[in-house]
Amino acid sequence: MKTSLDKKPARLLTAADLCDRCSARAAVETALLQGGSLLWCAHHFGFFEDGLNAVGATILVDERRR
Ligand SMILES: [Zn+2]
Repeated sequence: MKTSLDKKPARLLTAADLCDRCSARAAVETALLQGGSLLWCAHHFGFFEDGLNAVGATILVDERRR
């Protein structure tokens, strides 16, 4: 598990990075205030975005494309 909150430059998500909700390929990675990070596909990030904002989550990587 990668749970550290290093201040690294944004990395690229790969096919090995999967949404924590549905195991689709992740498009967004967010860091949580309490530590750790979560991966989201575009669908689930959109679904949970308001809630993530409400708890102060930070977007580390955003590879959503239209
Ligand atoms: Zn998903």
